Amino acid sequence: MGKVSIIRASERPDDERVHQMVKEAIDLLGGLETIVRPGQTVALKPNVVTGTLSGPGVTTDKRVVEALIRLCNEAGAGKVKVVEGAGYFTETSKALELSGIKALAEEHGAEVVDVDRDEHVELAVRDPLITPTIKVSKEFMDADVRINLPVMKTHDQLEVTLGVKNLKGVLPRYMKRNFHKIGVVKGILDLSKTVPVDLTVLDCIVAMEGLGPSFGPKVELNTIMASRDVFNLDRVASKIMGFDASELDYLVEAAEHGLTDLDSEVEVVGEAVSSFTHRFERAPTGTDFAEGVTVISEGACSACHGTIHSVLYDLEQMKKMGEIRDLFIVVGENAEVPDDLPNTPLIMGTCLEKYRDRGCYVEGCPPNNDKMRAAIREICGF
Ligand code: SF4
Repeated sequence: MGKVSIIRASERPDDERVHQMVKEAIDLLGGLETIVRPGQTVALKPNVVTGTLSGPGVTTDKRVVEALIRLCNEAGAGKVKVVEGAGYFTETSKALELSGIKALAEEHGAEVVDVDRDEHVELAVRDPLITPTIKVSKEFMDADVRINLPVMKTHDQLEVTLGVKNLKGVLPRYMKRNFHKIGVVKGILDLSKTVPVDLTVLDCIVAMEGLGPSFGPKVELNTIMASRDVFNLDRVASKIMGFDASELDYLVEAAEHGLTDLDSEVEVVGEAVSSFTHRFERAPTGTDFAEGVTVISEGACSACHGTIHSVLYDLEQMKKMGEIRDLFIVVGENAEVPDDLPNTPLIMGTCLEKYRDRGCYVEGCPPNNDKMRAAIREICGF
């Protein structure tokens, strides 16, 4: 059950090779027929994140989703559903369309479920770490088999986003935000206990490093990984990226609470971990922004932190960073605006609308880069 399989192509794989790689990765675990029985309903959970940035390294490669749909159909599944709640920037249904996943799912007879429009069921969390109950997509929970299809990426708050974090997409939107407010590490562990998955297939054909999960450079690994144990998969995948498990709070906490054992050996089949030599550039941390910029952040989502990094990057490219002094950005649902700031603060995002009169307010959840740049220009006078 705890085995992790790795299939690596020697060059950028074409469509048919992607299909074969997914099949080979699952075959090394015993084959999909050992997971999906004839007539069962299967829910697939890709990582769609956002529509406007959709593409390799950001969203799950649609060919991986297609391979799973075809393999489930071949295994005799009664119904296949692609279930996702995209999170930020774009409505989920639009994001699923832009990613190409909606069209190909329908082409193969699979149903597409928008978590934001789906009914939600409230589930009790066993031995809760932070939340006694969790609401999740009813369609996802009702499925007989649940398959997780994340992308390998760095993350500004968790260091990496892999299998465990990807499940956050089955939460209703307000609950995703609430996880950032109450503590995303414990939140995703409570979620993993409450919503078990039968298989995780990790898309590392194109991965992301640096400013993940949406804005970083791409890393072509031409690889597919799979495991029935999502924690083991994350342990091996993070090692491939160059992280030690002890650097990843969610794995350390998972081990402390008996969800995984970081001292145990994971059986890896297929490609050897040692053949991966690229060390992923770390995502900038929540406080690691730029000179002259102070971010007052409490309970902020990674989407807003990612937007700040990406706006500052844009300004650097425009050679405007030298003109930024005393820029204060207040972000996150729990943040307070200090009374004694030497400059007008930028109040960022819908969750701080209550402070709109206390500075230069930028609406959006998260706000878009254009509005952020305009506000920074206004505050810094360039
Ligand atoms: S505005 Fe930003 S921090 Fe606030 S809820 Fe939206 S994404 Fe999260």
